[in-house]
Amino acid sequence: MVIGASIAGLSAARVLSDFYARVTVFERDDLPGEPASRSAVPQDRHLHMLMARGATEFEGLFPGLLDDMVAAGVVKLENRPDCIYLGAAGHVLGTGHTLRDEFTAYVPSRPHLEWQLRRRVRDIKNVEILQRSVLEPRYEPARERVTGVLLDPPEPDADPEFVAADLVVDAAGRGTRLPVWLKQWGYQPAQEATVGIGVKYASHAFRMPDGLIQEKVVVNGASHDQSLGLGMLFYEDRTWVLTTFGVANIKPPQTFSEMLTLVDELLPDYFGKALAQAEPIGKPAFHAFPASKWRRYHKLERFPAGIIPFGDAVVSFNPTFGQGMTMTSLQAGHLRRALESAVGASSDAQLAREFNRATAKTTFPVWMMNAIGDVTFHHAKADPEPRWWRSAGNLFDQFLGAAETDPVLAEWFLRRFSLLDSLYMLPPARIFGRTVVHNMRLWLNEQRAQRRGGGAARRGGTVRDVRALQLP
Ligand SMILES: Cc1cc2nc3c(=O)[nH]c(=O)nc-3n(C[C@H](O)[C@H](O)[C@H](O)COP(=O)(O)OP(=O)(O)OC[C@H]3O[C@@H](n4cnc5c(N)ncnc54)[C@H](O)[C@@H]3O)c2cc1C
Repeated sequence: MVIGASIAGLSAARVLSDFYARVTVFERDDLPGEPASRSAVPQDRHLHMLMARGATEFEGLFPGLLDDMVAAGVVKLENRPDCIYLGAAGHVLGTGHTLRDEFTAYVPSRPHLEWQLRRRVRDIKNVEILQRSVLEPRYEPARERVTGVLLDPPEPDADPEFVAADLVVDAAGRGTRLPVWLKQWGYQPAQEATVGIGVKYASHAFRMPDGLIQEKVVVNGASHDQSLGLGMLFYEDRTWVLTTFGVANIKPPQTFSEMLTLVDELLPDYFGKALAQAEPIGKPAFHAFPASKWRRYHKLERFPAGIIPFGDAVVSFNPTFGQGMTMTSLQAGHLRRALESAVGASSDAQLAREFNRATAKTTFPVWMMNAIGDVTFHHAKADPEPRWWRSAGNLFDQFLGAAETDPVLAEWFLRRFSLLDSLYMLPPARIFGRTVVHNMRLWLNEQRAQRRGGGAARRGGTVRDVRALQLP
């Protein structure tokens, strides 16, 4: 049984269908028969990037998905870094060149991706998706396990309905009540790591004549000196979404014309010129995301059998990094492996333990790097916050500075940002050495230019300022 039919619930149901005779997904929200926004998933109106790694993982779960998306109009970027504008922490990555390694990305809207997954899950013979709200799981203390769920009654005066299950997957999202239930059942609370990032989103859909810009993915993250950022994606129905956001509780623009002013401020002129021809569609959407949250279930000594927390119910990342769906797709792999190794095992508490541990392993590197970025560049407060994080963030700033003008470094960043190759954002010795040499060369050029009197007199400054002296 699965609680929730969003990205996580659908992914979990797909995996469970290979192991159980019957899988039931309970979803409280209306599920549209076509790609459309849902009221229970308000974030789907905002920019949702599908990382290249996530596309591969979802294709593994649902073979044929990517071709079907492209057939439906979803943009596929095959070795087209010129279609991606990537600004991170105040540095614009120099990715507009031929890549050394193959790089393919897809740009579905969030409602489209969810619909593609939903219709595939609906087609699985032993899976049923029912529109019902789950009140709570039922726990049997004697067996220390969850035995099913109680459903909210369809009529206000009726009793909750019990439905038995061998396994309940909690994919109810960030707002899951599992922490409360665990307490009620006599378990220790899971430690919660948080990063208070105070992100506020404002998004607007729009149309624009084709061909005005070649980019299909535009990301300009916030930085230490600029708490506002934005992103733009070109979707399958030939509409665009423009999302503007503020970190540290800074309010983003509230109207389309204010959003365009921010585009002028943050992006090169040609974007503003193109967007001057944009026609807004509908009304703006707003969303607040106070803190990233990681519930560390893997640290609990005791965890009940018969229930597994999944997706955002375990960890919800700073959305401006665009990783949530991809990290959920990795959890689907963990669930499959945990189920495979649990076949024939004496205790199915082992299943949750194994899944929780594997999820922690993939969450850790991404969580840590996000947190380092957030405390260094986004004025965030993390709990816990190791002292070395800010120094690491400042070093990474040097790397990003070099990646503005070194295409090899830029490509390394693009791949890691897309969660390809490794989840660790730690530059290996080869990349680190290259960064140092590149920055030294930039610094020497700057010194020479200053001696010739051609460079602007500067105090301190970062290597990125040198770029203006370097590039035509
Ligand atoms: C503003 C914003 C922007 C984001 N941008 C990106 C991005 O660019 N890229 C990316 O990869 N990720 C992004 N994310 C994260 C992404 O949306 C989530 O990681 C992803 O949706 C997976 O979430 P989920 O399925 O676990 O939970 P959710 O999507 O929150 O879904 C939970 C589901 O459970 C249902 N449910 C809850 N309680 C019950 C109940 N009691 N009974 C029955 N059903 C129930 C809900 O109705 C809902 O359908 C963003 C998130 C936010 C907030």
